[in-house]
Amino acid sequence: MSLLDVRNLEVTYAGGARAVRGVDLSVEAGQKLGIAGESGCGKSTLALALLRLLPAGTKVSGEILLNGEDVLTMKWGQVRAVRWAGASIVFQGAMHSLNAVHRIGDQIAEPILLHKKATPSGAKKRVGELLEHVGLPAARADAYPHELSGGQRQRVMIAMALACDPGLIIADEPTTALDVMIQAQILRLIEQLVSDQDLGLVMISHDLAVLSDTCDRLAVMYAGRVVEEGPASQVYENARHPYGKALSAAFPRIGDVASRFAPRGLPGDPPDPSALPTGCTFHPRCPVALDVCATEDQELRNAEPGRRAACVHVGAAVTDARSTTA
Ligand code: ADP
Ligand code: MG
Repeated sequence: MSLLDVRNLEVTYAGGARAVRGVDLSVEAGQKLGIAGESGCGKSTLALALLRLLPAGTKVSGEILLNGEDVLTMKWGQVRAVRWAGASIVFQGAMHSLNAVHRIGDQIAEPILLHKKATPSGAKKRVGELLEHVGLPAARADAYPHELSGGQRQRVMIAMALACDPGLIIADEPTTALDVMIQAQILRLIEQLVSDQDLGLVMISHDLAVLSDTCDRLAVMYAGRVVEEGPASQVYENARHPYGKALSAAFPRIGDVASRFAPRGLPGDPPDPSALPTGCTFHPRCPVALDVCATEDQELRNAEPGRRAACVHVGAAVTDARSTTA
């Protein structure tokens, strides 16, 4: 049984935006999966869906099996238990996720107490340990968020994510708001913590280079779909889907905010998810599109063992996508 097994996940926002369309993914304990793609491709929607954090009125279907249990059919009490203790999320902007008027130690202690993982005095001790774990002195527990730098605040968010010993960490652009040196430190910290504790990691970034450094496998998303998936170094160095190729050819540098919006050499933008193009949704931007791409949707196909890509130029169609990644 996988730690996380996402099957045919579809997310449609109340306004009709089809932000995630038929995504299949799996993560084993100790495995690091990277999800790449330009801004607007559905990465955050996917992350939020995993813990049912999407706004009311959003239509979600498919299966999200966390340790074999479907998050989508759980009762709310169970969902609350799974958040923090089963899986937790580290978001991009630590300043917005932390409460400005509470000491960080109390904020880290909150999920520990909520989930009855420790007594109040036990929680205090655990907060000190967690802070040291993420490279901050235990005494910083008394600080308010504004007394910390951006990198330190992101360390606090990571401490909070680890507080209830989850099996899976979901990190959504955890370093995008930080400067280059600090980004590298935080990524190394996350990588080290998940390896030490044999956790699963879903790391989301617009930056394929960052992901290929950190992750074992990579999935490239375009217009709400996974269009390419495989071992990280192979996808980065030799992408099989034209979109994956464009992302890796862009060589976006860490901290290059512009590369997030338009990979160099790839004109245009991802489509509006409430008005998707017919056929392959990438065809209007694709340098190697054929006539058929404007009319025929492309499913993920086997590119080679352990690698899949959704492009007419790649291999033969597979009927059961999951059978190729086991
Ligand atoms: P990414 O994280 O890859 O940048 P998102 O998941 O944030 O992408 O967004 C995917 C698409 O869904 C975008 O077109 C975005 O505008 C749309 N979207 C995101 N959040 C909402 C929402 N709450 N309501 C309606 N549409 C949304
Ligand atoms: Mg996002």
